[in-house]
Amino acid sequence: RLFYDKDCSLAPLEGKTIVFIGYGNQGRAQALNLRDTIKSEKLSPVPKIVIANTKDSYASKADEDGFGFTSDWATAASEADVLFLLVPDQVQPGLFNESIAPSLKKTCAVVVASGYNAFYKFLNIAPSNDVVMVAPRMIGTSVRSRYESGQGFPCFVSVEQDGTGKAWDVALALCRGIGATKGGVIESSAKEETLMDLFAEQAIWPAIIATFREAYSALKAYGCSDEALVHELWLSKEPAEVFEKCADDGFIRQLIHHSSVSQYGQLKGSMEVDVGPLKKEFKRVAEDRILSGAFAEEFMGLDKNGPGVEKALESLYEKANQTELAEGEVRVRERLGLKSSN
Ligand code: NDP
Repeated sequence: RLFYDKDCSLAPLEGKTIVFIGYGNQGRAQALNLRDTIKSEKLSPVPKIVIANTKDSYASKADEDGFGFTSDWATAASEADVLFLLVPDQVQPGLFNESIAPSLKKTCAVVVASGYNAFYKFLNIAPSNDVVMVAPRMIGTSVRSRYESGQGFPCFVSVEQDGTGKAWDVALALCRGIGATKGGVIESSAKEETLMDLFAEQAIWPAIIATFREAYSALKAYGCSDEALVHELWLSKEPAEVFEKCADDGFIRQLIHHSSVSQYGQLKGSMEVDVGPLKKEFKRVAEDRILSGAFAEEFMGLDKNGPGVEKALESLYEKANQTELAEGEVRVRERLGLKSSN
C-alpha cells in the first residue's frame, strides 16, 4: 500500500504531547517539519512538541530552533502521547529500557525510524502501547530540505504493535506531519526494513568493496599503475554518476549512456558471472546472520562483553587499510596532494 496526504488525517495528533528523544540527524529534521505542519494546518488543540536530549550541542541546537529541551527523560516520557525514539539504534535499548519505559503512559505510541530494535524486540514495550515505524529513506538534512521545498520524501511505515487499536491512524498522521506523504509513503514492516537495510550493509556493499579490492589487485598484477587504477575505478566519480543515472533513467536503461562496446561488455558479462557463490553468500547473510538474530547479538555484545564497537571498528579499519587498494590510494592522494573531506 501507498499512502498520500489525502489518506492521512492529522486529527489523531490534536492536543497531543509529542516527545522527541534525540535531536540529531532525524530528530531535528522531523521535529522542525512537524512543527511547521502543525502551524500551517492549524491543528487545534495545538499539539505540544517536547525535545529531550542530554545537555550538549544537540540540545543547544534545539534551544536555538526555539524548542527548548529537557534532559529529564522520565518526565518527558511520562507526558508523551507519542514518543519518537531518535537516538542511534545501538543506544536505544539501554536508554529506553532503563530511563524511559518505566515512566511511559500505557497508551503512548512509540515511534522508531528504523526496524532494528522493533524487529529484534530489544525494547521492553508494554502490550498496551502502540509501536509504529516511520522510517525516512533519506538523511535528516534531506528530510528537512525536501519538506521546505514542498516535496515529500521516500518513507516506510508500519504498525508493529497495535495496543490502542488506533496505531495506524497515529502512524499515518505522523507520516503526514513530518511531510513524507506528499510523495507517497510505502507500507513495510520492521522485519522487511531490517532485512533490506542490513542485507545492503552486510551482503551488497561487502560484495562491491571486495570486487573493487580484488579488481585492484588483479589489474595491478597486469602492470596497471596506482594512479591509473584509482582514477579509473572511483576517483573520476564515474561509479557515482552511473548510480545517479540508475535512479534517473532505470537500472538497466541507463546503460544506453555508455558506448556500444561498454553496453555489450556489461550486459554479456553480467550474464556470465558465476553467481552460485554469490547466491550462497546472500542466503548465508540473510538467514544465518540477519533473520536468525546472530548479527544483532554479536553487534550488541561488542559493548557489553566484547572489545567495544570503537575497538572492533579500529581493528577492521586496520585490516582494510592494509590492502593493495587502500595502500595504493594513499600513495596517489599524497602525490596529488588530495585531501579527504573528513
Ligand atoms: P544521530 O546519530 O543523529 O543521533 C544523535 C542523537 O542521539 C543526539 O540527540 C544525541 O544526543 C543522541 N544520543 C546519542 N547517544 C546517546 C546516548 N548514549 N544517550 C542519549 N542520547 C544519545 O541519530 P540518527 O538521527 O542518525 O538516527 C536516529 C534513528 O533514525 C535511528 O533509528 C536511525 O536508524 C534512524 N534513521 C537514520 C537515518 C539517517 O540518515 N541517519 C535515516 C533514516 C532513519 P547526545 O549525543 O547529545 O546525547
